[in-house]
Amino acid sequence: MLRQQGLVAIIGLVVLFVVLHLGFAPEHHAPRTSGATMLGGIAFLLMTCSIVLSTRLPVLEDLFGGLDRMYQVHRVAGTFTAIFALVHFFGVPKELPEGVDPVANALVPSAPMGMLGLVFLVIGLFVALNRKIRYSRWRPTHKVMALVYVLIIGHFMTAPGIFFERFSVSGILLMLAAVVGIVSLVYSLFGMNRRTAIPFTIEAVNALERATEVVLKPVGEMLNFRPGQFAFVEIQDKGWSEPHPFTISSAPEEDRLRFTMKVLGDWTRKVREDLQPGGEVLVRGPYGRFDAAASGAKKQIWLAGGIGLTPFLSKLRAMEKGDDREIHLVYAAREEQDAIFLDELKTRAAELGNITLIPLFSDEGNFARVDKMQENLRDPLDTYEYFMCGPKPMTDGLLKDLKKAGVSRRNIHTEAFEFR
Ligand SMILES: Cc1cc2nc3c(=O)[nH]c(=O)nc-3n(C[C@H](O)[C@H](O)[C@H](O)COP(=O)(O)OP(=O)(O)OC[C@H]3O[C@@H](n4cnc5c(N)ncnc54)[C@H](O)[C@@H]3O)c2cc1C
Repeated sequence: MLRQQGLVAIIGLVVLFVVLHLGFAPEHHAPRTSGATMLGGIAFLLMTCSIVLSTRLPVLEDLFGGLDRMYQVHRVAGTFTAIFALVHFFGVPKELPEGVDPVANALVPSAPMGMLGLVFLVIGLFVALNRKIRYSRWRPTHKVMALVYVLIIGHFMTAPGIFFERFSVSGILLMLAAVVGIVSLVYSLFGMNRRTAIPFTIEAVNALERATEVVLKPVGEMLNFRPGQFAFVEIQDKGWSEPHPFTISSAPEEDRLRFTMKVLGDWTRKVREDLQPGGEVLVRGPYGRFDAAASGAKKQIWLAGGIGLTPFLSKLRAMEKGDDREIHLVYAAREEQDAIFLDELKTRAAELGNITLIPLFSDEGNFARVDKMQENLRDPLDTYEYFMCGPKPMTDGLLKDLKKAGVSRRNIHTEAFEFR
């Protein structure tokens, strides 16, 4: 779940800037100038936040509730950056104040840098939000945002004093933000944001129904993680391109690392068709804060849709007998054949005793529904804590219905399987 601390920090920063900018506006600035530069400043601060989020720092994961949430906020902050930048562009007075030499003003590079930055920003945002563009093609193009950021810094650092005073209080705040942004940018662009890679060898590649289980043996140390966390998997061979994120489906105590990968596109198909035991893999992580054990709730409902079972699989594999939680695991799949690891889940549920397994197959007309849950649970819905992972339409629908049924959003935790 998205934690509020991170959002509060972003909103607090923006509010601080607005107060300083308007409260200490130079007298020679017309209200329209102050308003327009305020919007430009907000755009810059949001872009800085977006860049800071791409550092993937663990402290930020704590503030925002996991890397997947950080990327969602990164995307929203990026969108608002473009909106504020556009309004800023249209809002800035186009006529020069009296007494300003137009020739001298035309020589200042601020306006062309701002224009260029804005054009790249809008194109970059269009590309970033266009899901039709393949991830592997999209990723390198997204780096153009670094250029946009530098252009925007150049834009306000060279802005004539008639529009923006860089040594005003709000100007100093923007310059400090620029320093943080540039450091974060260098950190992310040069890969320093990636956690140390731990080498593994591929021990087995097991074909499952529409998914593949990849079993990795550590070359040296084992990755330390908590059930429900994910990691980036980088196959060390020609043609495997970028790292891909996958939830670790094994338990932390196991001496092997297991990932269960649904065949979705080129990369996951290649895993199923071409990946061979013996190859080398780098694993970077762990990331994520989808931790049912840490919540402390004694009554939990886990809702898994299809491949969204993987975080729960790790939790179940790690759980010990005597766990005092009452857990209902709703496992929704298209058909029984599609429900990977169903037999193992049944066995674990019988061994552990505190798990009620509810498999639902849509081809039999059974879907995960809140009204059905209400009928079958002993206690009212709002006395449980919910953990959901599955296709977006499923989790969005359940989230809406649970909230309608009076369950607090704070008690509903979701894990998103996409960053874009
Ligand atoms: C936190 C998290 C945990 C995940 N856990 C699992 C899991 O346990 N099992 C599982 O089957 N899938 C999991 N996924 C999804 C998995 O990462 C994608 O299905 C896979 O990367 C698709 O790659 P592709 O080239 O085969 O498919 P494509 O068709 O190219 O991609 C499908 C979608 O996957 C995403 N994607 C593709 N490549 C990347 C990448 N390099 N980095 C980030 N996102 C990418 C994009 O949103 C894209 O739209 C998880 C994703 C995230 C973000």
